[in-house]
Amino acid sequence: MTKRVYSFHEGNADMKNLLGGKGANLAEMTKLGLPVPPGFIITTEACREYVESGNMLPDGLIDEIKDHLKELEKKTGKKFGSSTNPLLLSVRSGAPVSMPGMMDTILNLGLNIKTTAGMIKKTKNPRFVYDNYRRLVQMFGDVVLDVEHALFEKTIQVRKKTRRITQDIDLDEKDLKDISTKFRTLVKKHGKHEFPEDPMEQLIMAVEAVFGSWMNQRANDYRILNNIPDDLFTAVNIQTMVFGNMGPDSLTGVGFTRDPGTGEKELYGEYLVNAQGEDVVAGTRTPKHIDDLKDEFPKQYLEFARICRILERHYKEMQDLEFTVEDGTFYILQTRTGKRTGKAAVKIAVDMVKEGLIITDEAIKRVDPNAVEQLLHPEIDPKAVREHKPISIGLPASPGAASGIVIFEVDDAIAREAEGIILTRIETTPEDIRGMAASVGVLTTRGGKTSHAAVVARGMGKPAVTGMEDATLSYEKKELRFEDGTVIKEGDTVTIDGGTGHVYLGRMPTIEAEFTEELEIILSWADSIRRLDVRANADTPKMAERSLKFGASGIGLCRTERMFNFEDRLEIVVEMILAHDKKKRLRALKKLEPMQRKDFIDIFRIMKDYPVTVRLLDVPLHEFLPPAEVLIKEVMEMKQEGASTREINEKQRVLDRVNELKEVNPMLGHRGVRLGMTYPEIYEMQARSIFEAVAFLKQKEGITIVPEIMIPQVSTAQEVKWVHERIEEVREEVERKSGSGSIEYRFGTMIEVVRACMRAGRIAERVDFFSFGTNDLTQATFSFSREDAENKFLPLYEKRKILQDNPFGVLDVKGVGRLMRITVEWGRKTKPDLKIGICGEHGGEPRSIDFCNSIGLDYVSCSPFRVPVARLAAAQASLRNKKCE
Ligand code: PEP
Ligand code: MG
Repeated sequence: MTKRVYSFHEGNADMKNLLGGKGANLAEMTKLGLPVPPGFIITTEACREYVESGNMLPDGLIDEIKDHLKELEKKTGKKFGSSTNPLLLSVRSGAPVSMPGMMDTILNLGLNIKTTAGMIKKTKNPRFVYDNYRRLVQMFGDVVLDVEHALFEKTIQVRKKTRRITQDIDLDEKDLKDISTKFRTLVKKHGKHEFPEDPMEQLIMAVEAVFGSWMNQRANDYRILNNIPDDLFTAVNIQTMVFGNMGPDSLTGVGFTRDPGTGEKELYGEYLVNAQGEDVVAGTRTPKHIDDLKDEFPKQYLEFARICRILERHYKEMQDLEFTVEDGTFYILQTRTGKRTGKAAVKIAVDMVKEGLIITDEAIKRVDPNAVEQLLHPEIDPKAVREHKPISIGLPASPGAASGIVIFEVDDAIAREAEGIILTRIETTPEDIRGMAASVGVLTTRGGKTSHAAVVARGMGKPAVTGMEDATLSYEKKELRFEDGTVIKEGDTVTIDGGTGHVYLGRMPTIEAEFTEELEIILSWADSIRRLDVRANADTPKMAERSLKFGASGIGLCRTERMFNFEDRLEIVVEMILAHDKKKRLRALKKLEPMQRKDFIDIFRIMKDYPVTVRLLDVPLHEFLPPAEVLIKEVMEMKQEGASTREINEKQRVLDRVNELKEVNPMLGHRGVRLGMTYPEIYEMQARSIFEAVAFLKQKEGITIVPEIMIPQVSTAQEVKWVHERIEEVREEVERKSGSGSIEYRFGTMIEVVRACMRAGRIAERVDFFSFGTNDLTQATFSFSREDAENKFLPLYEKRKILQDNPFGVLDVKGVGRLMRITVEWGRKTKPDLKIGICGEHGGEPRSIDFCNSIGLDYVSCSPFRVPVARLAAAQASLRNKKCE
């Protein structure tokens, strides 16, 4: 018979897939002899059976649960449902990967009218028992019976108001007794079922609810956001209750073995005296810092520190744990790998190598490359910090700084995402996740550094400030009112600093982050093992400097059209476009040439020994002209205002040219090499600027540059040949005129058109390198226009799992990737030393980088900020490859 239930002592940490992360770790800690309250786990396989059978518990499961319950009764000396000595249970979900706050917990299961009376007799503490009872009815009502959470909260708020108290802890025995009666009435009225008296019925319903919650909306949303597959399922952990709310010698807390914000090797955490676990996580009361525990409960603090040491040494990883002290006795309820900021991840990995806990390969694997980008995010300019007083100080819950407009509701945040939103809530719950994803930062008035808002924001790499308690938030009035009378209304701009907890009115200037010592170390380890080179996409000298600072070994894409887009040049570009004959066009190009040359001189000088790939003009010419609608309006206004005929004619000429250049599908139209074919003088001017820059640096500064010239949008070998011949002519001319001697350069093409992939063998005959333009190649492969796809149907495609990922974010390995693999193979068959890279946005995305490594590309190129991400991802790809071999 299939075994579907495991006692804690039957499992271990390697059984995560079957027992879930929480269950496997509870089993492991039991094996280590740590003070874990006994319990058992129902497997993820049982959940799979439940979901796949259309929500039917598998045959025999209830009997197996009953057997384990008997074993638990024997171990604890208590009895489930007994009126004299009742066994109470917690029921928690636990998937193989951590999904914080996504699945549900029920505490104090087993309480009913009869067992409540028994507990009161036994503990002589009616306040404690009624508090547990109302919590059970509340959690059970919310999680199992679908009663709106807010209804329970409202009942408590009303009671506190009539009693003129502010804290839950000040509610007395009578309050809690009345509240629990009210809660039962609430459940009866609003729930899909009455609150069950029979403890066994409570347990079975709770197990079913946990299984069912795997498929609920918020769990689905979380999985989509975090790329977690649907078919992992969740286990259910059933554990003997221990009580942190038994009185002044009881407490509950959350701790980390190192600081998850900075990575410092010091214990970190928070606790609440006389409270149950959910109070800390939910952020309804603001907890105390773990350092206070040292003074308040010295013996228990030492036990906490001892357990932290044991767990870190055992797991060789920073742990996040939950603990409870029941009447002076310390219990550990959970341990898992702790979530951390990018900064902490890097520091912890490097420190653990220094401490001899792990080796460098392991340290490289431990850091999520995407998290590295967080370290490069801006901070508020310290000068501005000195000059401005924050309006409030909350808790520094997730680092980084962001300015944005205050929005109180999740739907509004989603709708106004583009404006840069600071999602501002009393506290956040899992329902708010999509709003958080749409925001640049999160602000809450309640909750600690381990509240839902803090944990989720850190995971998303967004700044968060929590527990801003001097402000009162009203969702009805859409305002945040501070004790000093200041009011922030929806739409006002604030700046939050998640590193200090400071909140400022208005927008503050920010500065770029510097590399930490640990980041330098881990990236140097990564550099020593990666095979792929990492270059940057950079179009200006400033970007070139930043690329070098971030460790790029070259520029893989310099988009020359971006050099045309500056104020003083745009005028000349427009003149060039408006020219009706070649002579006029050449005159305008002649004016542009020195500017382009200066750009190249500056960039080549900065990059010196590193390669720079310059891509000749790609975009359709009309992109440099104003849209027709704007021009029509302007012509009309000029006529009304009585402008001169000459002025009107001039504007009309621009409008006529815009109409001439108009295309049905500009992205598939007159752009890239097609422009180079029809207006060869443009590419000739660009090539001349490049070669003259090379000659200048050689003659004046003794710097030898070997530039790489790249042609966009190529689809045939003939285009390549034709353009190459023109460029060769320009090279000879510059060599001759400048007297610089021979100029060396590399000639290459972008591969971003499907036909180019299919003709890779022929195209390779003429070029030194290929660079995959996967932005266009993805559009071409799917026949999707990116903007239309992302605005109209891609979100739905992802939600319905038609596509696993947005193919413009993560390389579509099965389609685009297959084309790339064929291209590499055919290109290198013609020319074995053909250099091949990628310069589409996928070049900075870790999973895509792994694929690029696997098909033998030589380099990836990405935006400067992604360069450190790519260096680390490339090293991880090498390690994965090594493992495969
Ligand atoms: C590409 O298509 O991937 C590319 C890098 O070119 P662009 O984004 O400039 O079209
Ligand atoms: Mg392109």
